[in-house]
Amino acid sequence: MKSIITSASLLLFSFYAAFAQVDPSTVTIKTTAVVENVYMLEGSGGNIMIAISDDETLMVDSQFAPLSNKIKKAISALTSNPITYLINTHHHGDHTGGNENFNSDETTLIAQKNVLKRLTSQGKSPGYLPEITLDEEIKLSLPEDENIMVVHVHNAHTDGDSFVYFMDKNVIHMGDVFFNGAYPFIDLNSGGSIDGYIAAQLLILNTINEDTRIIPGHGKLATIDDLKYSINMLKDLRAAIQLAISRNNSLEQVASNTELTKRYDDLGYGTGFINSKNIRSTIYESLTNPNTDK
Ligand SMILES: [Zn+2]
Repeated sequence: MKSIITSASLLLFSFYAAFAQVDPSTVTIKTTAVVENVYMLEGSGGNIMIAISDDETLMVDSQFAPLSNKIKKAISALTSNPITYLINTHHHGDHTGGNENFNSDETTLIAQKNVLKRLTSQGKSPGYLPEITLDEEIKLSLPEDENIMVVHVHNAHTDGDSFVYFMDKNVIHMGDVFFNGAYPFIDLNSGGSIDGYIAAQLLILNTINEDTRIIPGHGKLATIDDLKYSINMLKDLRAAIQLAISRNNSLEQVASNTELTKRYDDLGYGTGFINSKNIRSTIYESLTNPNTDK
């Protein structure tokens, strides 16, 4: 177990250390229209979704606190409505760091119950914490969107992931259950697992349709074909690494075996936050010490 804790902690450390080196004043918030009254905001950290109705705004994820003023400015260019719902897809700081800055008296902060548990254990102040938690799913409605589903997926990127699906607008925010065009970070130290990650992507694939617009946790706006590609890639890597485990290969052998991931490395999949060695060792560790809450 020690090796899992060490590698996951190092990954998180390197991520936040990398952000600490980024001067927030150099970050630009990019706004992309997804469908009418729904936008994706990119800055540094997880992608944000903004959905606007007559007199309300729903926000998914809040990036890092030092970027909040820039994000508020980008939102004010779209609407002057108050943020009535802020949903966190999971607990990581690049998705929740701005929570307190967006959480006014008019805002209800929502996340899966394990997000509350983890943020509380980190000593976060009340304004940072979810006020409503879900176990499996919760349904929300705005005047123009009566069918908004927040659905928990088990042991995927963490143990507290939810996706947010606007059924009428046919837009989904997948949180970090999708890194479009890159190897995913599967946080084994926070309850994530390769099998849960693939199962979550399959569940979403079966929930959406060809016309759904997908906001990934990281990466560009995506389509169902991008999601299908991700599922096939992860199944492919899982099978190759399971075969290596069955042949008694060690973690070190799998971690250093570039042939296992070559096909995707050649397409640039290892150039993001998770490099090819990270994804090989993560899948190995997940298959040999699976996290499950069932
Ligand atoms: Zn994350």
